[in-house]
Amino acid sequence: MALRLYDSLSRTVRPLEPAQPPVVRVYGCGPTIYGRPHIGNFRTFVAYDLLHRTLIWRGFEPRFVVNLTDVDDKTIEGAAAAGKPLREFTDPNGEAFAEDARTLGILPFDDTPRATEHVDEMIAWIERLEERGLAYRAEDGSVYFRIAAFPSYGRLSGNRADGESGRSRIDADEYDKDDVRDFVLWKAARAADREVGAVWSSPWGEGRPGWHLECSVLSLGALGDTLDLHLGGEDLLFPHHENEIAQSEGATGRTFVRHWVHTRHLRVEGEKMSKSLGNTYSIPDLIERGHTPAAIRHLLISAQYRKELNFTFEGLEGSARAVQRLVALHRRLHDETVADADAEAGLAGIAETALAAFGAALDDDLNSSEALAALFVFLRDVNAALDRSGGVAGASELDVARDALASMDRILGILELALAPDDLDDDLAAWVEERIAARAQARVDRDWGTADAIRDELTDRGIVLEDTAQGTRWSRE
Ligand code: AMP
Ligand code: ZN
Repeated sequence: MALRLYDSLSRTVRPLEPAQPPVVRVYGCGPTIYGRPHIGNFRTFVAYDLLHRTLIWRGFEPRFVVNLTDVDDKTIEGAAAAGKPLREFTDPNGEAFAEDARTLGILPFDDTPRATEHVDEMIAWIERLEERGLAYRAEDGSVYFRIAAFPSYGRLSGNRADGESGRSRIDADEYDKDDVRDFVLWKAARAADREVGAVWSSPWGEGRPGWHLECSVLSLGALGDTLDLHLGGEDLLFPHHENEIAQSEGATGRTFVRHWVHTRHLRVEGEKMSKSLGNTYSIPDLIERGHTPAAIRHLLISAQYRKELNFTFEGLEGSARAVQRLVALHRRLHDETVADADAEAGLAGIAETALAAFGAALDDDLNSSEALAALFVFLRDVNAALDRSGGVAGASELDVARDALASMDRILGILELALAPDDLDDDLAAWVEERIAARAQARVDRDWGTADAIRDELTDRGIVLEDTAQGTRWSRE
């Protein structure tokens, strides 16, 4: 069966039909880097990753682009509050996103364009819209999109908002719009923007691009005039994506996106995430509390991306147990089962059934909870079969079962995290080795003060040294 996904525009689950298969041009709205992304953002980004891996698994060749929003109201406010230039403020947040994405095993995207690096293209885009009568300049030097000149506005969200709106004035910032529905393409510079260096010259004076425009220009700039898939969280459907359609189709005259996919928002302990509730956990927050990347990833894919998902610490512990069962199955298949040419434990049939159910679940609108269910039926049946056979299986059926587990994990990415050497340990080991070498050199130089200081430094980190005839050995306390 072909891969089918819910399309928010046609409001149906329908086959993915890229314009030039096997290539699939995918754009996902990325993080606004005004802080470290939270676990909710990562529900969305892990769903992107599941789709990315499923596309590869199904033989497509995805070109996967996810932007970084590094100039908008929130990043400017954040930079001003921190007293830093915009870039200095956003850079560490962009790095934090990349680091947490790696922690959760998210495959690298093909491109992660940053809005501030494409402002010239955004200006050219606005000029095109102006030439086509779709943009107009306000007195303060801002430029707006003229929704009345784009009759199909509202198709995605059903939020056509036509009729009465007229020329009312909604807030001081936008008082010179012709129509309340019109949205900003170019924002004239304000004092706060100048303070943090968020200003660029343009034919309309100094200012900065509007957030909606950023995504149109970054996506089409990276992928061409039409995207096969556009992804984002459910909150972005209106007005962000509606506005993206208007700007993009207004400028190119072509279909902007063939298939729209929106992820449902994660809730935390039954509540909407919000700073005031203190429930916006980041990935390092959870790791610090002793939770593992594999368990976090398991939890985030335990519900299909369109279904409600409630993050709880109890749920996370349940996920940790699920991960342990998978690790134990891996160990059983790789280290504990005896291969005997004459044996037959029935593993091949179990693997075949599981793979078919697993693939069907993913094809059915990326149903990750059903895919996990297929994996756990596999786990149960393999364990039962090996119990029956006394832990003996035929060599080739054992290979088939191992391959099936590896194949399912290529999509789920759970064992991949649980079995990978702990990066923290690797970093720590490299650091300890370097310190031990420095101490050895200090001793050769008879610089006892430095040698003792290095030993103390290591003791502070819980590392115990033992000097032996073969050199210095170390261990953790
Ligand atoms: P932002 O950094 O706010 O621009 O959001 C980045 C991405 O995360 C967008 O696709 C949002 O829709 C998505 N997102 C924000 N909050 C949540 C949440 N609680 N659950 C799932 N996705 C979210
Ligand atoms: Zn976007």
